[in-house]
Amino acid sequence: MGDTSPEASTPADTQDTQTSATDSGSARSGRRADAAPAIGSSGPIPPPPVAKPSGGDTRPAAGGAGGDASGGKDPGSDSPGSGRRRRRRRGGRGGGGQGEQGEQGKQGKQGQQGRGKQSQGRGKQGRQRNEPVEAITDDGPLELDEAILKTRRGRERRGKPLGRYLMCVSVGEGATQIAVLEGRNLIEHYLSRPADDVSEIHGNVYLSKVQNVLPGMEAAFVDIGTPKNAVLYRGDLQFDPDEVEGGGKARIEQVLKARQTILCQVTKNPIAHKGARLTQEVSLPGRFVVLVPNNSTYGISKRLPDKERKRLQGILDRVKPAEHGLIVRTAAEDITAEELERDVGRLVQQWTDIEALAKKSSAPSLLYREPEAVFRFIREEFTKDYRGIVIDDRDLYDKVLVYVQGVNPALADRVQFYDSGPGGSESLPLFERHHVHEQLRKAVDRKVWLPSGGSLIIEHTEALTVIDVNTGKNVGKKSLEETVFRNNLEAAEETARQLRLRDIGGIIVIDFVDMDVKKNREAVAATLRDALARDKTRTQVFDISDLGLVEMTRKRIGEGLLESFSERCDDCDGRGVALDEELLLAKPAR
Ligand SMILES: [Zn+2]
Repeated sequence: MGDTSPEASTPADTQDTQTSATDSGSARSGRRADAAPAIGSSGPIPPPPVAKPSGGDTRPAAGGAGGDASGGKDPGSDSPGSGRRRRRRRGGRGGGGQGEQGEQGKQGKQGQQGRGKQSQGRGKQGRQRNEPVEAITDDGPLELDEAILKTRRGRERRGKPLGRYLMCVSVGEGATQIAVLEGRNLIEHYLSRPADDVSEIHGNVYLSKVQNVLPGMEAAFVDIGTPKNAVLYRGDLQFDPDEVEGGGKARIEQVLKARQTILCQVTKNPIAHKGARLTQEVSLPGRFVVLVPNNSTYGISKRLPDKERKRLQGILDRVKPAEHGLIVRTAAEDITAEELERDVGRLVQQWTDIEALAKKSSAPSLLYREPEAVFRFIREEFTKDYRGIVIDDRDLYDKVLVYVQGVNPALADRVQFYDSGPGGSESLPLFERHHVHEQLRKAVDRKVWLPSGGSLIIEHTEALTVIDVNTGKNVGKKSLEETVFRNNLEAAEETARQLRLRDIGGIIVIDFVDMDVKKNREAVAATLRDALARDKTRTQVFDISDLGLVEMTRKRIGEGLLESFSERCDDCDGRGVALDEELLLAKPAR
């Protein structure tokens, strides 16, 4: 989710907002695209991950990462603080900085539920001292007149909502799983650990401390209170050129000094050995707009028709705070002035809270936390193309319903509670009911079957993922070239599907079966590109090489499906072979 973000299935929509981000960026620096979290990034593909400071393990773990246990194990589930309007608070973080100890104690008193969830009876004004600001998801239902609601409702047939997509949310022990189905097919899956303030931090804002500046890397390691230092690159700095030596062309060491306290936002979750990536340009995503505090950015998605852009601009002339920047997302099409105003208001309120908290905090500390995955997903993706959001947890369902009533009331009846608990109306668990489990099981296999008997073998290496395409044993009736061509077309389609479902990022090399006919090779590459266009995550495909390999990249968002369900094998250290040490070191017989 991360850039939960955090996100799925209405590719056009997300790409729209990406476009808008770039559009507005051109007015300023062009780096806007990569700097904006949650709205993803656009623009040219970044260079392959070379020459970046790897790691950031330079700092002793502060606070300890094992915090999640302390939250979940706390007893006292039948305590007071369980009001209707409570907001879930993600528990026990790894080194959230000051005030955490007292915070834990308070929670103990207010009571918690199992599964590592923590709840607090606080409304939006009731934020405890030094507790991070959270996105406002419960500011009350939105009243729209019937005529407007009517245009926004999704299609129905005999009272049943229609739509290509269905989102299934299953809350389990310490982890929430989100499955997106297109028809009956699982196309995306997210595993989110609501208690995770260490690895799922995309979009969070920190008061952080510069650890060391690396002029040779044009980067700095920054302490944000997580076990691993985060990285801030020169291109993601924000400073007043008049105030630093070197002006606009200042080098990073002229702008940042060790021990300096700075405000940063995470634009990329830490993955494996790489620390989180930061920007100094904060942006807070709402449903219809993205607020860029203390910035002159002002852009309206170019995907919107001119007339609509004018109308929105008219409203914004009244509503936009002079000191902050705004990017209007494609989702703003046809919304009312009140909706726009409310969205801006929520974000301005969040920013005001963040600033106030920053003033009384000391670095490193978490100032703003993105809402949990489901809310991010709804914010970015939920449209009438979804026939429903089905949630198997009453508490989460209640909160999601309140959120959708506040941002998209016409679709609120598409949020459903799936009651498979004791005495519930459903006999099967949600993921079984929709065959998610069996599809997930296949999605972590090495081998994927193609319709005509061929297969893909998907292998991960340190540097890249390799997909090997094989033909079936049953060679068809037509020519070999024709059989191979058909097999490769299937492989191209399936590869795109698997990359999205498995959330495979980075460099990917596909070894299609050799084809003699150039036209066929081109057709396979074109099929792959078309299939990838449905993936909202940015990809780039290069031409087929002399050896018949297709190189491509896919933006890395999460850790990957396989990784989220597995651990490296201890016995072979992930290598997959057991060495015969005795034979290897055998002494010659005499
Ligand atoms: Zn092994």
